[in-house]
Amino acid sequence: MDLPARLGLLELIRLSASAESNCRRLRLALRAAPSSRVEEAVRELARAEAEYTSRAAQVTPATVRWRRAFTATERADTTLGTALARTRQLAGSGQPRTKGARRAAETALLAELSAMPKTLIRAAHALLVQSSGGKDSIVTVDRVVRWADSVGCLDKVVVVHADIGQDAEWPGVLDLARQQAERYGVRFIVVKAPVGFLGMVEKRGLWPDAQNRLCTSTLKRDEAAKVFTQIVDELGLDEQALLVNCLGIRASESFSRRQKHELAIDHRASSSRRLVLTWHPVFHLSETAIWKEIADNALDYHPVYDTLIPRLSCIFCILASFDVLVRAVRLCWVLGLPTPKTYVDLEGRIGHRFKNQFSLAQVVEEAARLEAAEGPITWRRGDAIRHHLGDDAATDYLRRLALAA
Ligand code: SF4
Repeated sequence: MDLPARLGLLELIRLSASAESNCRRLRLALRAAPSSRVEEAVRELARAEAEYTSRAAQVTPATVRWRRAFTATERADTTLGTALARTRQLAGSGQPRTKGARRAAETALLAELSAMPKTLIRAAHALLVQSSGGKDSIVTVDRVVRWADSVGCLDKVVVVHADIGQDAEWPGVLDLARQQAERYGVRFIVVKAPVGFLGMVEKRGLWPDAQNRLCTSTLKRDEAAKVFTQIVDELGLDEQALLVNCLGIRASESFSRRQKHELAIDHRASSSRRLVLTWHPVFHLSETAIWKEIADNALDYHPVYDTLIPRLSCIFCILASFDVLVRAVRLCWVLGLPTPKTYVDLEGRIGHRFKNQFSLAQVVEEAARLEAAEGPITWRRGDAIRHHLGDDAATDYLRRLALAA
């Protein structure tokens, strides 16, 4: 099966899933429509005929909409089934008249596509790389740029950085993400929500948590979606645009990330104007493998990693462990940043603990205890490489980094 056929099938899968979700929503709307209350009103004879008519008028459109969505689901499934039945490779997966069969077809098609990154890059109209400036982003940008360059598609690459507020990020993160993009000569876009991380917490009176990662969805994902619209407008195509959105997440980072796939349809961001595929080019790399690629390619990384803080996230990330947060507080003190006090004050003001298990005030208390016992933390450039790959690798990396500068 050729690539356009595969992409055509993916679009049909997306349409089928979208029709089904629409159908489900409208079925719920139909159930919630006031027909039962109309019957109750009639039974009790407590309401006037005008109200009955008005309520009945709400039921009818809901029923029509639900029927229409149901028919659209049937039609989309049938079209998809016919298209899949024509392809020999996927004939075994049968007619995708069930959600399970459709998912199986989707997974098979996407697995095939992710195994041929250069073909995917050629087919894409734009490749967006979401970069936090952190180690996984650096390697993701480097891989996508190298693959795109090798097939003459460097002009399709756009690096996107979500600024979540300078008072929440380590200093230099935005500049580093920009320099990483400039190093390859690719376009760099900064997106920023009207209210940053601390403003969002203040407004809600709650810190986000692992189950409600509003910080990621509001400050990063929703803002990135605006770039999809901008790029599609700029492309000005008559056909549906294929956008490949690259993220530097890895399976080994967490259980929930392990459940994701290397390549997936972004159903939420796709529409008739754009098919958005989410691609994780470093999905199967371990942390050590990431550091090896950074060392091998002399990629510049943020000095925070040299203090052995494992992620270049917000200064205080809601997903970080107690020990990492303690280290972050101590690093703030060395750098003269007011962030620990800002966060502890905010925590006191909203009366909600930073994490379920402990407060930031407790983190700061522990940091002060360690500071008194050990003195300020120290580090040397290259310590992250030294820690993961050894002394020789760090020496070699620093030498090559200086040459590349
Ligand atoms: S780094 Fe952590 S706190 Fe910051 S936006 Fe991401 S998940 Fe939220």
